[in-house]
Amino acid sequence: PSLRTTQSWVVRSEGRVILIDTGAGNGKYRPLQPIWSYLNTDYLGNLAAAGVEPEEVDLVVNTHLHDDHVGWNTRLDGRDWVPTFPNATYLMPRPDVEYWHPENLPRTRFGRGNQNVYEDSIDPVIDAGLVRTWDGSHVIDANLRLAPAPGHTPGSSVVHLESGGDRAVFAGDLLHGAIQVPEPHLNSCFEEDEDAARASRARMYAYAADHNALVLPAHLPGHGAFEIRRRGAGFEISGWAPFSRT
Ligand SMILES: [Zn+2]
Repeated sequence: PSLRTTQSWVVRSEGRVILIDTGAGNGKYRPLQPIWSYLNTDYLGNLAAAGVEPEEVDLVVNTHLHDDHVGWNTRLDGRDWVPTFPNATYLMPRPDVEYWHPENLPRTRFGRGNQNVYEDSIDPVIDAGLVRTWDGSHVIDANLRLAPAPGHTPGSSVVHLESGGDRAVFAGDLLHGAIQVPEPHLNSCFEEDEDAARASRARMYAYAADHNALVLPAHLPGHGAFEIRRRGAGFEISGWAPFSRT
C-alpha cells in the first residue's frame, strides 16, 4: 500500500459542499509518522482547483480519527490551530472521539502514532463549536449516509452515496491496497481490532458487489477507486474508476 496517497473527496449534494476526510494537514508534528510530519503541501490550492474555497465547505466528514484523515480539519494561524473550514459542521464518529482522547492513547494499538492529533486537529474544532458526533448510523441527506464499519478503529465508518442509479462507497481505511480485494482476510498493520476489520471489509465488499457501487478508499494511488464483483466465495476487481489522480 502507498500511504503517500491520501485522498480527500469533494462531494456536491443538495447544494452543499461536502468534504470526506481531510488528509494529513500541514505543519503538524507526528513523532512516529515522519511521512506526515511537518508537511507543506498545496492541499488548499488543489481544493481551489476543484472549485472549492475553504469558506464554501458546508460539511466535513472524518471517516475515522487517525492523523491522516483529520489533518486539514485545522490550519495554523500564527501559533494557534484554527478550523480550516470555518463555516462547516464537522461530523465525527463518537466511538473515535472517545477512543483517541489523549488519556486513552496508551491503551490503543496505534498509540503514539496518533500523538498530538487530538490537540491540533480535534480539540480546536470542538472548541469552535463545529463538531457534531454521531453513533450507530447517520443520514447526511437524501443521497448520503454514514454507516459504521468498526475494526480499523472503533468508530471507523463508510459513506454510502445513492443518487439515481449511481452507487458509491467512500471506504476510508477499510482497505489500504488492491490486494485486499482478492485477499480480504489481509489486514493492514494499523487495525485496532483485527477480526472486526475483516468483518467490516467483507460486509462492504458484499454491498459494493451486489449494488454495483464504486469503492473509493483513502489510500489507493492511480485511479483511486474501483468496482468489484463476486468470484466464487470471494471478490475481484471488475473495473477502475475513469478519473485519474491530479
Ligand atoms: Zn489512513
